[in-house]
Amino acid sequence: MPTSSAVPTPGPDRTAQWIQSDRDRLIHPNLPSSCTDRTVMVEGRGCYVRDSEGNRYLDAAAALGMVQVGHGRGEIVEAAAAQLGTLECFHLWETMSNDKAIELAARLTELAPDGLDRVFFTSGGAEGNEIALRMARFFHYRRQQPDRTWILSRDTAYHGIAYGAGSVSGLPVYHKGFGPQLPHVHHLTAPDLYQTAAYDGEDATEFCLQELRETIERIGANRIAAMIGEPVMSVGGAVMPPPDYWPRVAELLRSHGILLILDEVVTAYGRTGHWFAAQHFGVRPDLLVTAKGITSGYVPHGAVLVTEEVTAAVTASTGFPIGFTYTGHPTACAVALANLDLIEREKLLDNATAMGGYLADRLATLRDLPVVGDVRQIGLMMGIELVADKTARTQLPTGTAPVARALREDAGIILRGNPRSLLVNPPLVLDRAAADELVDGLHSVLARVEPDGRIRP
Ligand code: PLP
Repeated sequence: MPTSSAVPTPGPDRTAQWIQSDRDRLIHPNLPSSCTDRTVMVEGRGCYVRDSEGNRYLDAAAALGMVQVGHGRGEIVEAAAAQLGTLECFHLWETMSNDKAIELAARLTELAPDGLDRVFFTSGGAEGNEIALRMARFFHYRRQQPDRTWILSRDTAYHGIAYGAGSVSGLPVYHKGFGPQLPHVHHLTAPDLYQTAAYDGEDATEFCLQELRETIERIGANRIAAMIGEPVMSVGGAVMPPPDYWPRVAELLRSHGILLILDEVVTAYGRTGHWFAAQHFGVRPDLLVTAKGITSGYVPHGAVLVTEEVTAAVTASTGFPIGFTYTGHPTACAVALANLDLIEREKLLDNATAMGGYLADRLATLRDLPVVGDVRQIGLMMGIELVADKTARTQLPTGTAPVARALREDAGIILRGNPRSLLVNPPLVLDRAAADELVDGLHSVLARVEPDGRIRP
């Protein structure tokens, strides 16, 4: 990795100062105040990042599942600099527009599943879900069905932590202690082909469909606005649904006039080997939420893709009355355009499929290890489920955090996980050498994990 003159000279003194200042000043998500560890990242190139002490890591998480084109891409730096020097910011309120937002909207609707012809820009995933939830309710309000306010979501879903997005997220940790949540939200069972105990031996799709039917009957179709779901659950553990799940859910919802919102914040822009996972599952949602990979995370941005039918209702009369300061930010849109160019030019969808297949073959050998219960893969999105007991399929008592830490410290691999599974989401530019390094590192650490979660030296 070439060193950059823009990076402050790393070294023990600077690192100690930064870490002390971080401890004194910063509030980190999901970090207890008792934890004094910090890793100060200062540089990235391709699939690798380097910390302030000069340690190099394979970024197998693509930061937070967003760096599709890899770190340090000069093409994106140039696009951002050119736009900053031309029209750094403006907005899309009322009649105002800008060339980059117009170009990006046209490009996205060309790539999107048929029928998603309109775009609402945001600055991230939770904002996108917030807009989608509001649009869904407003759609029915404008169509004289104001009682359609209920939102169906799923247990263990993650949709971000804005008020609505956090309320529809499905883990108690996002709700407990934060006061009342968005009313009229109901969580359903998510299909999971490994943790099958919840289905009483029934087929997962049949179980989930029956639950959905009963829920619609109980609440009343004429009170339900939408169902929201991730095509493949990401934070929930790279949980893949059975192939017939989404098409059948979409059909059932449509028959009751309930909108389908697909949260593709992680899965869009090549992660699954398709531009959008909706195309993999053969399903056309009414609203499709994206962020992260739209700019490969170089600047915050997001886009909600919407059907003409929903657009017509919400923009009629006095228009859709809400938006953000940064909706259609021209620099973010210019970065997104450069990023999409790279994904296309470097055929990263094909690479995600090819490298995903290669990794899946090699990762399959991990199943022989006592603590590996399941390995799931679609494109370059993978989940490795760790278990204390393969028969009972119980999670490690320590969760996966100590394993992620050992991977970082002992193998130089950055991965994140939820309590059950490690999530493997590398940049889509991953090559064979980096894939081999990832598999070898995983093997060396996972072979040392005991069923009680301890890691042998
Ligand atoms: N939706 C999904 C599926 C996500 O995984 C995330 C973040 O990881 C979000 C929404 C929230 O996105 P953001 O953190 O940009 O608000």
